[in-house]
Amino acid sequence: MSYAVRGMTKDGAFRIFAAETRDLVEEARMRHRTTPTATAALGRALTAAALLGLDLKTGRVMIQINGGGPLGEILAEADAEGNVRGLVQRPHIHLTPQKGKLLVGQAVGKDGYISVTRDLGLKEPYQGSVKLISGEIAEDLSYYLTVSEQIPSAVALGVFVDTDNSVKAAGGFLIQTMPQATEEAISHTEKILRELPPVTTLLREGLIPEEILKRIFGEEIEIFEKRPLFYRCRCSRERVERALVALGPEEVKHLIDRKEPVKITCDFCGEEYSFSPAELEKILAQIEVKSRRELDA
Ligand SMILES: [Zn+2]
Repeated sequence: MSYAVRGMTKDGAFRIFAAETRDLVEEARMRHRTTPTATAALGRALTAAALLGLDLKTGRVMIQINGGGPLGEILAEADAEGNVRGLVQRPHIHLTPQKGKLLVGQAVGKDGYISVTRDLGLKEPYQGSVKLISGEIAEDLSYYLTVSEQIPSAVALGVFVDTDNSVKAAGGFLIQTMPQATEEAISHTEKILRELPPVTTLLREGLIPEEILKRIFGEEIEIFEKRPLFYRCRCSRERVERALVALGPEEVKHLIDRKEPVKITCDFCGEEYSFSPAELEKILAQIEVKSRRELDA
């Protein structure tokens, strides 16, 4: 089962986060039928959302990446309960790997932005965005956190796709420098991070998130929370009904005139919701009741 951990170094210099997301990314791959390139891009984004989500006590965080590359837009979101979901606009795009590496940056593109939205259930969600640097996602997210949220951050994200296209390893970590960190501690950590093998190598060696953090900081860390992660969508029949109501009476009448069930598929999870003409009539009645109420008000 995928999970993520959140903690701190004992000297208070760094906030530390790490996640193992193989099962989560594999579930996303099966639901979206992604090619290896799209699996890697979406998997990195989902892992990033899971890591940022660790900071939430309520609400959710959304990452939106639009680099103008062949994959199109990528969305990933995570909530405070460890539910993660996402989508890639063109999941069937695949670029031929070079030297054994999936060309994520090229497929995502770097002519665009990465945006992060934190919706804590308050009136206004907090949103920020920066221009993409490479489209490799980890680099872009660390730049976003450092520049837009002004917390110096190092992010590593990795997805290793097997020869049968399934996800063999996935995960990542996030390290944030606190104001009390000494120059010495910072340069020491930077050196370790430069020499650290790719995160997928560590995961394939069998390291769990706690061990990855120990590999960087030694035993001097404290883990505050371990959170299971699930690929779970927030869609429901009620939500789809509300979306149909929002279409308005004319659109719903058009759908009824087609005299066949309307099938609506959730972009995030692939779940299909079907509405018969009779059910659409009920929705139309709801819209009419609603608009009469609004007229009376
Ligand atoms: Zn869904």
